[in-house]
Amino acid sequence: MTDAPDLRAIESKIKAKVETHLADAGRGGGAYVSNRASELGLACDTYHVLRWLRPELWQPPDVGLKKIFRIGEAMERPNLRLVEDAGFKVVEHGRPYSWAPMKISAHIDAKIIVPELSPDPIPLEHKTLSPNGFRFFRKAYDSGADWHAILEAKYTAYRKYPAQLQVYELLDGAAFGAWMLFEKASGDFFFWIHALDLDYAESLLRRAERVNAAVAAGEVPTPVRCDFCRDCQFQKSFCFLGQDFGPGHDVILDPSESAEWEAKLDRYAELASAASEHDDLWDEIKERFGGKTTIVGSWHLETTTYLQKRKAQEAREIEVSRLNVTRL
Ligand code: SF4
Repeated sequence: MTDAPDLRAIESKIKAKVETHLADAGRGGGAYVSNRASELGLACDTYHVLRWLRPELWQPPDVGLKKIFRIGEAMERPNLRLVEDAGFKVVEHGRPYSWAPMKISAHIDAKIIVPELSPDPIPLEHKTLSPNGFRFFRKAYDSGADWHAILEAKYTAYRKYPAQLQVYELLDGAAFGAWMLFEKASGDFFFWIHALDLDYAESLLRRAERVNAAVAAGEVPTPVRCDFCRDCQFQKSFCFLGQDFGPGHDVILDPSESAEWEAKLDRYAELASAASEHDDLWDEIKERFGGKTTIVGSWHLETTTYLQKRKAQEAREIEVSRLNVTRL
């Protein structure tokens, strides 16, 4: 009789092979040869120029992140199909755009006809979100805020979303664009329509112009610390070499938030020393009055004794004494 195959080992081998394939897909990313609409919202010229000039300093996402990205890619088609099946005209799936003078490229998810807004299709961007991310967007939307609120998101990756859609609108000559925001755990979704904000969109064009000029000159703008740095791979490979803030280090840059937390941390430190003094005094009191009932001035110290099971599931009981201190 032959030995049974080690199924666990075989399963692990299959998984490892698929993960290796996923990790290798698109490895390196290469140098940028255009300003990507999906990135222009990242408000650091240094970053953009480094993506063109120093691609070797940027590492592609790890396999865990790639798995997350795949969920978004996998859900885009079925969700756009759902919108079509509901009676909307959805066109130009995955259409590439480029704007040579500004060296901007884009890859629009689709366009949708919303008759109340225009007879022409407007850009439609599908975004897959975690439950937390979805809650964040939904809260902003329900509060009546417009899309500019997302530019203040603590999770800096979200700040790129409005820029991406605004660039699509600009490239497409559309007065509006729409997000379909989809929550991957519950399947819930909602739509958020953006009016084109020309001033904001033009600020993105100015960024592209500055990047193009710096790239042409081969000059990387001097890094200036900002709140995009905490999630940026160039932090340790170029901008702030030797300044190791540890993995995932978060810098609180907002002055009011920083002041609020600094005060709390100061107080916490004060209380910590008071807590240690409190513990020392308690040990002293127990040593002097434990097992007795005593009156000291206006204080009543009483020891109570009772039986308690050693562990909830054990029948055996032990005698426990507790010293209670109350003011008379
Ligand atoms: S680490 Fe900060 S300054 Fe450097 S490229 Fe990234 S975001 Fe810009």
